[in-house]
Amino acid sequence: MTPVTAYKDKHVAVFGLGGSGFVTAQALVAGGARVIVWDDNEHAREKARAAGLRIENLASADWSGLDSLILSPGVPLTHPAPHWTVLKAKAAGVEIIGDIELFCRERRKIAPKSPFVAITGTNGKSTTTALVAHLFRSFGYEVAVGGNIGTPILALSPPAPDRVHVVECSSFQIDLAPTLDPTVGILLNVTPDHLDRHGTIENYAAIKARLVRQADQAVIGADDRFTRAIADDLRAAGLRPTLVSVESPTIENGVVLDGAHLVRRAEGRSSDIADLAGIASLRGAHNGQNAAAAVAALGPLGFELERVAKGLRSFPGLAHRLEEVGRKGRVLFVNDSKATNADAAEKALLSFDKVFWILGGRAKQGGIEALRPLFPKVVKAYLIGEASEAFAKTIGDAFPFELCGALETAVPRASADAEASALAEPVVLLSPACASFDQFSDFEKRGDRFREIAKAIISAPTGT
Ligand code: ADP
Repeated sequence: MTPVTAYKDKHVAVFGLGGSGFVTAQALVAGGARVIVWDDNEHAREKARAAGLRIENLASADWSGLDSLILSPGVPLTHPAPHWTVLKAKAAGVEIIGDIELFCRERRKIAPKSPFVAITGTNGKSTTTALVAHLFRSFGYEVAVGGNIGTPILALSPPAPDRVHVVECSSFQIDLAPTLDPTVGILLNVTPDHLDRHGTIENYAAIKARLVRQADQAVIGADDRFTRAIADDLRAAGLRPTLVSVESPTIENGVVLDGAHLVRRAEGRSSDIADLAGIASLRGAHNGQNAAAAVAALGPLGFELERVAKGLRSFPGLAHRLEEVGRKGRVLFVNDSKATNADAAEKALLSFDKVFWILGGRAKQGGIEALRPLFPKVVKAYLIGEASEAFAKTIGDAFPFELCGALETAVPRASADAEASALAEPVVLLSPACASFDQFSDFEKRGDRFREIAKAIISAPTGT
């Protein structure tokens, strides 16, 4: 845990006692702050009481003596409407911040030079966070990894000169971190998402930009117009962001994907870092962007090309994101359960050629219509869950499909068809393009079930 000693004797309210709120309250208490906590959920309050935290109903509390309100990132700050705690804090002139901001203040107090890599973007945050952590570890560093990817930031060990903090930040977390000042800030991409919570795409992009603006070194994806504009702004302010791109291999200073090769370009010279084609955990151009950003974040270490290449090759990847479950003969089984919308499923279809595609669940707006240009890659589809009928209509006679209902039927059928095909490398791919909630509690459970069934098929003797 990181005790927030920068808040010693301050009077703080914490609202929202889910994973990060609970830890944040404890870290503040450990640092010597006077903390009151509240959550609308009775069960969360009980847990906090049992842990010795001071519960006080913020609806009726006296706000005049408070220094800060620490808000959980799940609570609306501005859109669709500010939460009642936000209105109360504003009326009382109390600042509203989150756990990442507390970490930044503590870091400036106890170890201002400690390495701190912060990562954001609409897509690829978790993969890039895991890869940056993996690369630093492969160079022998002690790494503390957390934030939006899982472990709350204040549950990590405190910042220290010989410890690298690698932290994934959602836009909600950045919105609550006005002085976020990482050593390296990575902004991967900005595409419309979460606009219900941020109002407009411009507002959403402006929030994301904050992560790189005050970074010692900014690493910025150059493949969409929002991030390009942010890089231009930084340059106009006299800063030198490192660019990463999978679409413009000729950019001057930065890390790019040229074909399947990751290449560093600096001062007119190009150095080949690695051929990503042979690295299963970094399959697809989208992972090229993640890998380029991670290498750029290494700074001068990134020039040790052999060691970087070795680090990339040993990256195990994250579960449920184009995760290779295994092979049965020629058939490859891939779990991409994290693909909960068409955009993510598109990345999966782009990564393979002959696909036995398992999809469905609770459909998102627009369904799979946007994937039509990739339909030629699909040999056959196996539809599951609520979206089956709507998807069947979209598919029409573009390729054959079966209504399978559930994974238990879909995986064996896809596997049998793939085995029976004469194709060189058929892929049984779960990339649902749907939320999982009609059949599972989350995408992890869905992916776990797919992996279980696929493994049973892989280990069963052929012909049974
Ligand atoms: P996040 O943490 O931002 O949700 P993940 O690393 O968990 O991102 O990847 C989630 C999904 O997003 C992946 O399954 C893939 O389909 C897609 N994705 C990953 N990286 C990128 C990227 N750089 N650009 C676009 N899409 C990506």
